[in-house]
Parts: sequence; C-alpha cells; structure tokens
Amino acid sequence: MRGRIPVSILGATGAVGQRYVSLLADHPWFEIAGLAASERSTGRRYAEACRWVLDMPMPEAVRDMPVLPVDTSLPGRLIFSGLPGDLAGQVEEDLARAGFAVCSNASAHRMDADVPLVIPEVNPDHVELIPTQRAGRNWDGLLVTNPNCSTTVLALALAPLWKEFVIRRLHVVTLQALSGAGYPGVPSMDIIDNVVPYIGGEEDKVQTEPQKLLGTLSDGVIAQADFPVSAQCTRVPVLEGHMLCVSVELEKNVSLDEVKEAWRAYRSEPQERQLPSAPDAPIVLMEEADRPQHRKDRDAGDGMAVTIGRVQKCPVMGLKFVALGHNTVRGAAGGSLELAELLVARGLVE
Ligand code: NAP
Repeated sequence: MRGRIPVSILGATGAVGQRYVSLLADHPWFEIAGLAASERSTGRRYAEACRWVLDMPMPEAVRDMPVLPVDTSLPGRLIFSGLPGDLAGQVEEDLARAGFAVCSNASAHRMDADVPLVIPEVNPDHVELIPTQRAGRNWDGLLVTNPNCSTTVLALALAPLWKEFVIRRLHVVTLQALSGAGYPGVPSMDIIDNVVPYIGGEEDKVQTEPQKLLGTLSDGVIAQADFPVSAQCTRVPVLEGHMLCVSVELEKNVSLDEVKEAWRAYRSEPQERQLPSAPDAPIVLMEEADRPQHRKDRDAGDGMAVTIGRVQKCPVMGLKFVALGHNTVRGAAGGSLELAELLVARGLVE
C-alpha cells in the first residue's frame, strides 16, 4: 500500500464515533481526514464538541480538528458511519452515489437485498454483492453494513455451528450494556439497581439479521438461512459488553466436545489475511464455571473476540451456552474497521 487511506467519520462525537476515532488513531492502513457530526457540533474543535466517554485519552491528533457537516464535500473516499439509524438512510445513499465507499453501523440499509451485511469472519464473500449494487443503483461508490451489536456476538458464535452441524432453531436472551444506547443513553434513575426488559427495535434485528449473515450468495442474490430465532433483549447496568444466553437445536446429534472443538478451531479470512483488526482467534472458549463475565472478558482479543462459556446440554433445545462480546468494538466500530480492511484486501477499495 502506498500511503494510508484518508477516511471520514460520521457521528464522530457519539459513542460509536469515539470508538472509531480511538481505533483509527494508530491504524496502519487508514488515517482520519474528517470528523463530522450534527449542527450542534459543526465548526467547533473536536475536543470542545465531543464529550469523550472512553477510558483512554482522546488522541492528540484529533483534538484541534474542526467538526464538519455531513455532506458530500467530506475528505477521503472511505466513510465510516456512526449516524443514528433514522438519519443514516438517505445520507449514506447520497454519499455512495457521490462515489464514497460507505461502511455503516446504522440499521437503515442492513436488510436491503443489494447491500452486504457482513461480519468478515462469517460471510466475507458477501462483499462480492457490490458489483450488483453498483449496477442496480447506478453509482460508483458502495455501501456495506455491519450487524446490530448483539447480532454480531450471536452470529459469530453460530457460524461454526451452522457450518458443521446445521441449526434448526434457537432462543436467545441478551444482557446489553449501557453504551449500546449511545450517550447519554438510558437515564441513571431508570437503570441503577435495575434491569429493563425492553430495547426498542432490538429483538426484531436479532431475529432477522443472523439469517442474512449466514445466507448464501449466488448470482447476485443472498438466499437467507431458514432457521427461526426468538430473542428477548434486556438492558443491564454495565458500561460495555453484551452477553447472550443462547439455547439452540442442531440438526446433527453432536457431543459437547465436538461443539467446543468447532469453536476452538474456528478461523476465517481475516485471520488468513492477517487483517490489522482481526483477532488471532475470533472465538475464545472458557471452561471456568462462572465465565464469561462482562468486566473480565469483554476485552478479549482487544475487544474483537467473542468469549463463549457455560457450554451445556439443554433438556429443551439440545445445546446451551453463554457468549459475550464488546458492543462498541466488535459490535460496532471495530467490526466496521475490519470490514473496511476486507474491502481493501479484496481490492474493492483503493
Ligand atoms: P450516539 O452516541 O447518540 O451518537 C450519535 C452521533 O450522531 C453523534 O455524533 C451526533 O452528533 C450525530 N448526529 C446526531 N444527529 C445528527 C444530525 N442530524 N446530523 C449529523 N450528525 C448527527 O449514538 P451511537 O451509540 O454512537 O450510535 C450510532 C449508530 O451506531 C446508531 O445507528 C446505532 O444504532 C449504531 N450502533 C451502535 C452501537 C453501540 O453499541 N452504541 C452498536 C452497533 C451499532 P452530535 O454530537 O453533534 O449531536
């Protein structure tokens, strides 16, 4: 690669935007050229406009950068979008039509038939939908999306099971961190000493996105996987990390050891290509009876690995386990960066 690729971040002041900023600060392939947010922030220095919520300090290089408006004059040809879902739809289309490669975290286009919804380990080949998208929409840019943060954890855990043993149906209960609601998110008086068994729109996403991710691309069409998912999503008083309690019925009758071995052995294209954001092992299996735990395990693989434990026989569905992933790293900005790296590695972005 000649020089680093200049990129702009939409929603740069938000929870996901800040993760992008922090992960891009020392990225070997990409460099931050533009930071964009709402009218509230436009024209101000990033350090003034942004209420920095991450534990690590704000990178020096962005502190004095001006916050730009979200429009087609943004610098660079690659865009990372952490915009609210209701706003992202039109804006991301306009940018792709203007020739930008847009990697979006927002839900607006995830289920569009011609938009790749990708976890680079799970379905890297789905980026080959891009020529179909370009022809159909008559644009030179591209639009790719990464899944909902809980779906990401679920689909990574399911991918080896789907491949080796085929899934018939599953039920999942999520315990989701506060940062998943953005900043300032859930009011403290609603969540301290409490669990809220409702996250607007979340159950629909977790019930529909895995089938697209685990679907098969052929002749420019994704045939979705056909197993049903039942999801119940809760907000819990932890800052980072989404935990999922999963019960699943497989088509094949397999032992717990076979299931564990499928997870242990799981590697995919990001590991083979050694993409900068790829963890050595996308799934970390834990045998301790009381793991994974949010505080102890969400940073596995620098936040890019999903930790699985409590693997047991389920008297109802056959198999049950607990999975945990970092929602703003693997489930958002980190997953989106890894997807952009995949686009570069496959020659779809230069
Ligand atoms: P957030 O903390 O509320 O941040 C929203 C960002 O969008 C801010 O930078 C805000 O700028 C900007 N914005 C708001 N209205 C705007 C407008 N009219 N024009 C331009 N910019 C505007 O939200 P978030 O948690 O980062 O989520 C961002 C997106 O990622 C959402 O679509 C969300 O569903 C998705 N996502 C989030 C997570 C997660 O774990 N948080 C995980 C996966 C996906 P100002 O600061 O100027 O208002």
